[in-house]
Amino acid sequence: MILLLILSINNILQYLNKIYKLSQIMKLVKNINEKNSIKTEVSDKEAEEAFRTILRWIGEDPSREGLIETPKRVTKAYKEYFQGYKKSTNEILSKTFGDVEGYDDMVVEKNITVESHCEHHMAPIIGVAHVAYIPKNNVVGLSKLARVVEVFSKRLQTQERLTMQIAKAIMEALDAKGVAVTIDASHQCMTMRGIKKERATTVTNYYLGQFKEDLSYQNRYLRFIVK
Ligand SMILES: [Zn+2]
Repeated sequence: MILLLILSINNILQYLNKIYKLSQIMKLVKNINEKNSIKTEVSDKEAEEAFRTILRWIGEDPSREGLIETPKRVTKAYKEYFQGYKKSTNEILSKTFGDVEGYDDMVVEKNITVESHCEHHMAPIIGVAHVAYIPKNNVVGLSKLARVVEVFSKRLQTQERLTMQIAKAIMEALDAKGVAVTIDASHQCMTMRGIKKERATTVTNYYLGQFKEDLSYQNRYLRFIVK
C-alpha cells in the first residue's frame, strides 16, 4: 500500500516536472517570437522619428525648411545601404553553367566596388574586392560574383567577416575547387574620426580549397590582382 502511494506521488511529481519544463519552453518560444517581432516591426515612420531625434540631439532644428524632408530621405537611403538583409546569395548563385568545355583554371574578377558600413560606428567602408574561384563542374555568370559582394556589403559588417562570407558563399554554392577573396578598403571611422589616418586602408584575404592548400595558385592569384 505504502509502495503504491510512493509510486503515485512519484508519478505526480514527474507529471508536474513535465508541465514545468513545457511552460519554460513555451516561455522561450514566446521570447524568441517577441525578439523577432521587434526586429521586423519598426515602421518607416518610427525610423523617421528616430532620425528626427538624432537631428535634435546634434543641435539642429528638424522643423526648419531644409530639414523637414531629411528624416524621410535618410530612411530611404538607409534602406538602400542595408538592403542586403533582405537578399540571399543562394538565389543569386543558383543559376550556373556546366558547359565550359573543360575550362579548369581560376576565374578572377577584379576591382569590384565595395560600399559597406562598419558595425561598430555605422560609418562607411569604401574600397574594392577581388574575387577568384577555380570551377569544378560549374561556372557562374561574372556579374553574379559582384552581386554576392554587394549582398554581404549592404549589411553592417566587419571587413574580416565580409571577406569570409563572400568566399564561403561562392565555395558552397558552386562546389568550387577553391575560392580567394581580397578586400582593400578604407574605413571612415578611422579616416574621419578617431585616429584620423585618412590614407590608411585595410587589406583582408581569405583562401579556401586549392588557393589555401597550393601556394602556387595563391601566388598566381596575387600577381593577377596587383596588375
Ligand atoms: Zn568602425
